[in-house]
Amino acid sequence: MNKLVEFLNNLARIFTEFKNTDMKYKNRIRSRIANLKDVKNPNLRRNVLCGNVSPERISKMTAEEMASDELKEMRKNLTKEAIRDHQMAQTGGTKTDLFTCGKCKKKCCTYTQVQTRSADEPMTTFVFCNDCGNRWKFC
Ligand SMILES: [Zn+2]
Repeated sequence: MNKLVEFLNNLARIFTEFKNTDMKYKNRIRSRIANLKDVKNPNLRRNVLCGNVSPERISKMTAEEMASDELKEMRKNLTKEAIRDHQMAQTGGTKTDLFTCGKCKKKCCTYTQVQTRSADEPMTTFVFCNDCGNRWKFC
């Protein structure tokens, strides 16, 4: 039998042993199969086929742990971007009461305008709420 199929059968057995077939577990097993079949995630499949990752292990893995290296890299970059936005809104911003925070409804905000795209396009305004730390942006 194909090793991957065998592995998936073992995985299915583990989930059956939970004696829980509600949507949560169905989605869980579905996400595992999707990750194993993902052509962009050869590492996970390789680890499984080499026996580095057992069906027991993968049944408890989070989406983050299963994610391909490419996806991990993408998420890391997204986080970096979020941190940069955050710092930009906190430093060098202008205090204003022109904006109302969607979270706490207060008007104690700091905003920064940045040219994020090409020069002939409007600036992106980053707004940071000094009260609750909420931040948002608009163009
Ligand atoms: Zn706020």
